[in-house]
Amino acid sequence: MTQANKSVEIILAPPAPHMVGDGFRVHNFFPSGYTFGYYRMSPFFLMDYNSKVEFPPKDTPRGVGVHPHRGFETVTIAYQGKVAHHDSAGNSGVIGSGDVQWMTAGSGVLHKEYHEEKYSQQGGPFQMVQLWVNLPAKDKMTTPKYQGIERSQMGLYQLPNEGGTVEVIAGEYKNTKGPATTFTPINMYNMRMKKGVTETFNLPETYNTGLLVIEGSIKVNGSDLVNTDHFVLFKNEGETITIEFEEDAVVLVLNGEPIRENLFPHGPFLMNTREEILQAFDDLAKGKFGQLED
Ligand code: MN
Repeated sequence: MTQANKSVEIILAPPAPHMVGDGFRVHNFFPSGYTFGYYRMSPFFLMDYNSKVEFPPKDTPRGVGVHPHRGFETVTIAYQGKVAHHDSAGNSGVIGSGDVQWMTAGSGVLHKEYHEEKYSQQGGPFQMVQLWVNLPAKDKMTTPKYQGIERSQMGLYQLPNEGGTVEVIAGEYKNTKGPATTFTPINMYNMRMKKGVTETFNLPETYNTGLLVIEGSIKVNGSDLVNTDHFVLFKNEGETITIEFEEDAVVLVLNGEPIRENLFPHGPFLMNTREEILQAFDDLAKGKFGQLED
C-alpha cells in the first residue's frame, strides 16, 4: 500500500509573546495568536509556548497564583527550568527538563503554577509548552487527577547508530507506547535527533496534526524548511511525514482524534454550552472547586 504524504498546510512563526502571571512569557499559537478556530487542532484547544528565555535569580518564585479550571486537561511539557504545581485535589509535583505534568481538571480544580524554588533562586534558561486538551462532553465532569510523568518514564524509541530518540509521552511511535492516560486518542512525542538524520513515520490521516520546533531546524517532506520556535500545521490527508534534521533538533509532535462537539469556552473553563459556563461560575462561588492556599 502506498501511503501519501501528510502535507504541510501552513508554517507559523511565533506570535508576539505575553506574560502569564510573572513566570511565563508565552507565544499563544492558538486559539488567539492564529485564529484558525477552536476546532482545527482539536482535541488540542490551546497552545502556549514559552520559548527560551533567561530569568534572573529571584528569592520569591515567579508564577501564576491560584486559579480555577473545568472541562479539560492542562498538559505542561518542560524543556528548560523547573516548575512546581499544587492543586485543590491535593496533588502537587515539580517538573524539569523532559518531564510532563498532565492535569485533568475535569469537574474542577483550583491550581497554582510557580517556578520551583531552587531554580528561581539560581535563575537561568526557561522553556516550556502548555497545552489545553479538551475533554469530550461525557468526561468533562470526571474526577480531577494528576499525572506527573518523569522523562525516565517516557516510552523510548531509539534510532540506530545513536541517531536520536523519540520520547513517547502519549499514544505510540512505531509500537513504542507512552505512559500518559488520555480520554481520547492522542499521540504526543518529543523527537530528539542528531544533525543529518532523516526519519519517516506515520500518523492517522483523520487526526489533527501539528509540530513545534523546540530546538534546531528541520526540513519537512523534503521541501519545507522550518526554523526554531515555528509551528507546522498539517493537512488532514495522507499519513506519512518525513523529517530531515538540518541540525541537532528537538521537535514536539501533536496528533489527536478531533472531538466533534460544539465548544463554549470562557476564561479558564472549557464547556459545551453557555449554561455549563454559568454553572461553573456558580459552583466556583459556592466553593465546589475546593480550597487552595495562595
Ligand atoms: Mn492553569
